[in-house]
Amino acid sequence: MSSSRALATEGGAGDDKLILSPLWNHVEKISKAPGGGGNYKVRCKFCSKIWSGSYSRVKKHFLGEGGFGVKECTADPQTLKIFKTEHENALKRKAMSNAAKSASVPLPQVHDGTELSVSYMLALKA
Ligand SMILES: [Zn+2]
Repeated sequence: MSSSRALATEGGAGDDKLILSPLWNHVEKISKAPGGGGNYKVRCKFCSKIWSGSYSRVKKHFLGEGGFGVKECTADPQTLKIFKTEHENALKRKAMSNAAKSASVPLPQVHDGTELSVSYMLALKA
């Protein structure tokens, strides 16, 4: 029931899926669900609820938005708020990477790296 357990982001190298779908971090994948397609049998690390489904159900569980067939998490509101922030950050990252992909012009090189690190910081925080 601790409200402040292990929420520090781990500097995992280049796991796009986790970066864009951070809520996977808060469930334990028990097994791959039959039929594949990104569906897993998972257990919530906070309320120990078990269900099967894709990331949309994980979102439903923690954020109460989208998806069906799973109840919302009973973790304390402050924890859920952090998850929501993580999710929103992921959406921003996704939008940024989509924009980068669709841009036909390569991003300009920055000599001193200032601009680059600012946008990188923005991507990491808040
Ligand atoms: Zn839960």
